[in-house]
Amino acid sequence: MQELADSLTAYTGFSPLWSPNVRIKNMRVNGNNVTLRTNATLHDVRWTPDKIKDVKRKVSVWTLGHPKGKVTIFSAGTDIETLVTNCAKGVYASGKQKDLTERNIALWPSHGLYHNAARDEWIWQRATLWTTVEDLYSQEYVRLIRRMLENAGATVLMPRAGLENSDLGVSGMPQWTEGARYWLISQGADSTIWNLYDGDEYKDDMKSRTMWVNALDVPVDLCLALHTDGLDSGNDSTIVGTLAIYTAKDDDGRTTLRDGRDRERVNRNLADWIQTQVTTDLQTVAPEWTRRQLKEANYCETRVPVVPTIILELLSHKNMADMKYGLDPAFRFVAARAVYKGILRYLNGHAAVVQPLPVQELAIHRNGLLQWKPTPDSIEPSAQPTYYMVYTQANNGEWNVQQVEKATQVQLAIPQGVQFNCYVVAGNEGGLSLPSPMVSAYLQDPTNDPMANDQMVLVVDGFNEVYGPEWFADSTFAGIVPGTYACEDGFSCAYIGQQWNYTRASEWKDDDNCGWGACYRNHAGQLTVGNTHDYAVQHGWVLRKMRIPYVSCTAGMTASYRRDSTPEWDFALIDYICGRNRQPLSDQTMKMLAAYAGQAGKILLSTDHFSAIDRVWAKKHLHTAYHAAQATHSGRVNGTRHRLYQLALEPNEEHLFTCTPEGLKPTDETARRVASYEDMRCAAAVGTDHTLVFGFPLEACTDFDRIYRHAIEWLLNNE
Ligand SMILES: [Zn+2]
Repeated sequence: MQELADSLTAYTGFSPLWSPNVRIKNMRVNGNNVTLRTNATLHDVRWTPDKIKDVKRKVSVWTLGHPKGKVTIFSAGTDIETLVTNCAKGVYASGKQKDLTERNIALWPSHGLYHNAARDEWIWQRATLWTTVEDLYSQEYVRLIRRMLENAGATVLMPRAGLENSDLGVSGMPQWTEGARYWLISQGADSTIWNLYDGDEYKDDMKSRTMWVNALDVPVDLCLALHTDGLDSGNDSTIVGTLAIYTAKDDDGRTTLRDGRDRERVNRNLADWIQTQVTTDLQTVAPEWTRRQLKEANYCETRVPVVPTIILELLSHKNMADMKYGLDPAFRFVAARAVYKGILRYLNGHAAVVQPLPVQELAIHRNGLLQWKPTPDSIEPSAQPTYYMVYTQANNGEWNVQQVEKATQVQLAIPQGVQFNCYVVAGNEGGLSLPSPMVSAYLQDPTNDPMANDQMVLVVDGFNEVYGPEWFADSTFAGIVPGTYACEDGFSCAYIGQQWNYTRASEWKDDDNCGWGACYRNHAGQLTVGNTHDYAVQHGWVLRKMRIPYVSCTAGMTASYRRDSTPEWDFALIDYICGRNRQPLSDQTMKMLAAYAGQAGKILLSTDHFSAIDRVWAKKHLHTAYHAAQATHSGRVNGTRHRLYQLALEPNEEHLFTCTPEGLKPTDETARRVASYEDMRCAAAVGTDHTLVFGFPLEACTDFDRIYRHAIEWLLNNE
């Protein structure tokens, strides 16, 4: 029997880290009939019809010595035949709906600050590890999932404060840091929803979400609680992965939902759809990603709601291998999109159409032509854009929108004398994508100022990367390289403070003394600004104030200006924005800038990864070389005319920061130092008559407008 149990344990493929072994409680062999009764481990397997056949054949061989026996297996009293979900059978929801219009979806990020009566203190519900805490980290996924569901037409209902709300809560921290209980109180919810455990606000918080969902007066299609688990593999390379949890019976042992459908059948199917989509999609960016159990378990969050409900434990926040991915905003985007896709497929079946990926590349031309390129989705054939929404804004006023069918360009009338900003949203029958980066233009009225457009600038927003922090591991210590931080997508609430415990052997004692991976909490409740994708607008704002006309594009669209009616590269200056990009300039960009430099064009370039740019190319065309890493700790930069600038070097709510400012040096006598880091006394900027290169992103200067104006003046006038 033990041998059979071991074989079945191996058959599940589950790690002992997160799943108990199969135990056989009872086995009967009667002629050709075998009946097995086991503990619940086999319940957690995602059974497909083929897998059921296969395991029965194997059990027959293991017990009878041949594959033809009639085998029945009960896992925790349930015949495993009944555990094959519609998702696993390939049976799809019927209907013709492609998007999520008129769907109501309840969604919440886990945990949040709560008042602990015994300590008389507001504390987090989970440990603070790897620069974050589950209470805030889960918000990062949920805010993306929410936008995607809403872009598909769904109404999303949430019992915790959505991140755009900056109001302070009862804890004195922003409302979005607090548990659901406090948000529900602030919204006037009845005390029968949030006052259930006689002052135990931790339990109240968890249960209030489910009581709220049951009290909603709209039909809720499904409910999802997004968590991260607290398992630790003990090493830095074993992924824990994604677990889906549902509950088969309510508090009174009822096995049906409010609408009469069977809880286990419906909830398990929902859980399967979402877990399957999440693990499949995550394996495209993290091939070793693990699918954990499809688990029936008794948790309040899944037991109480009377509508289809799951807990998704997306990854383990305690496990370094999971968080190496989990602190990367690009990974979180894939995960959030997969949750949205799983929900969509569960509800709509074959009819589901997935909304397009955001447009990444666009350009606006001086004749008013706006061009863009769709972003193909290699893992989702249905996500083809069929139309676009073009948003335009003049002079910081209202956004206007127009729909463009199929074409990837539109002729706009750029009003003269004001800043004109644009972005594009891709659409199809499934809904709308998230927005593209912004481009911007400013044209002067030639009748008033006939010379003005001769000084036109091309602003190229080449800052297109987002990424997580750097990691290291040796045999004793492992974790996030000190002083390295994620480059967030837009902004993030995940970062709460630097990791301070790097000792692998240091064990978790409690959530205030949480061992290996522990981090400070001094940034908790603050947002971190990352790549905001609006740099053409930021730069253009200053150019407009200087009355310098400009147009702009993203890095992949520079070639589009060759088709202009005006001569090739007819710009007074190209302002190339690298931001915090870590990758070298593309061949296409180097070719373009080289051609432009060859016609004595002026180039402004700022980056904190000049060291990544091809050395020979940089010497030839920019007369500048990389000189030193970590070139300032004070962030103070001395410019021309005794001007002083301050750089942001750490995560903050106000603007971009750089954690890798680089020192530069001139490579020949045509080039000279234009600015230097005050503390390290090496060059922060190097210029020639035609080029000006900064070793940090100008956007990381606390007074961007001022440093950018000085840079443009210097380059255009060569003061
Ligand atoms: Zn949790």
